[in-house]
Amino acid sequence: MPGVYISYPFCAQKCTYCNFASGVFPRALEARYLAALDAELRQTAWPWAPETAYLGGGTPSRIEPDALASMLTRIPGRPWQEATIEAAPGTITAEKAVTWRRAGINRVSLGVQSFALRELARTGRKHTAEIVARETVVLREQGIDGINIDLIAGLPGQTRNSWHESLDWVERLRTPHASVYMLEVDAGSHLGNELLAAGKRYGAADVPADDEIAEFYEIAVERLARAGLDRYEISNFARPGFESRHNLKYWRREPYLGFGADAHSFDGGSRWQNVESASEYVERMARRESPIAARTAADPVGERFFLGLRLSEGIELDWTPFSEAIERHVRNGLLEAEDGHLRLTSRGVLLSNEVFAEFVP
Ligand code: SF4
Repeated sequence: MPGVYISYPFCAQKCTYCNFASGVFPRALEARYLAALDAELRQTAWPWAPETAYLGGGTPSRIEPDALASMLTRIPGRPWQEATIEAAPGTITAEKAVTWRRAGINRVSLGVQSFALRELARTGRKHTAEIVARETVVLREQGIDGINIDLIAGLPGQTRNSWHESLDWVERLRTPHASVYMLEVDAGSHLGNELLAAGKRYGAADVPADDEIAEFYEIAVERLARAGLDRYEISNFARPGFESRHNLKYWRREPYLGFGADAHSFDGGSRWQNVESASEYVERMARRESPIAARTAADPVGERFFLGLRLSEGIELDWTPFSEAIERHVRNGLLEAEDGHLRLTSRGVLLSNEVFAEFVP
């Protein structure tokens, strides 16, 4: 069954490590953006009722709660099996949580990234561990138990001790889901740019070495498993039954419709993507033009490999045009074939981009 994704690219600050098409825009644009989203949702002829909804960004928890509730009424299928909102810690109140719950939200993904104050301060995040703890209580009091905590391994100044400190907090808060991302270094973020230029701004000189980041990730895999959160995807860990149903659709190649700037869609045969810029999206919708920037045919064979192999369950190895590459990676210990399934090994997870490159056209 399909899912719905809504993109809300507005943030209170641009975090140094962030390479999403999100940022700080004029308040007036936010109001026009909500109107444009409403128009895009209204003009959709729904071929099916979605079973999941996901509000990502950006910081959709900034949306005024009644406006968010009214936007969600445009999506058929309520109550959805899963409806997630991404939230920046420090933006959650009891009033918001009540409205979210009534509007069908049953899962909140908290962009914590770190519980160590000195790491947060260098990235531009404003919260503290105590704020996160308080907000998890607020959410649970309103019946929202599906809580995720995002962490990043590789932030400037991160040490083995501070990483354990963050994992201690995840254990203490007993959230049923956690995501652990390794710092991405590319020209899409301030920090990535600085690292590529071998500069020192944004704490670039204090980013841990690659092998330390890999060690932090492996520590997280072990500690989260001990806390009952098993890895079900390269970056995602959950107690059984708390896996993100919406995100599983991406890796299992199930259809989803995306709304808003830079939102992606997939109908099983083709993929399309809205314009990246929030202001261009608003302008196009105001002119009653399509917000779609590009459409491509899906690559069912390659995608099945490089998306499906992200999952711990792997993929069924019934037929493959990639036998040579698979055999090579089985020999060098990055892939394992067992019980008719192909999976990344623990080492393969750390070098997954090397493996996936084989399957991208
Ligand atoms: S990390 Fe999240 S809050 Fe920070 S700029 Fe990116 S989308 Fe916004």
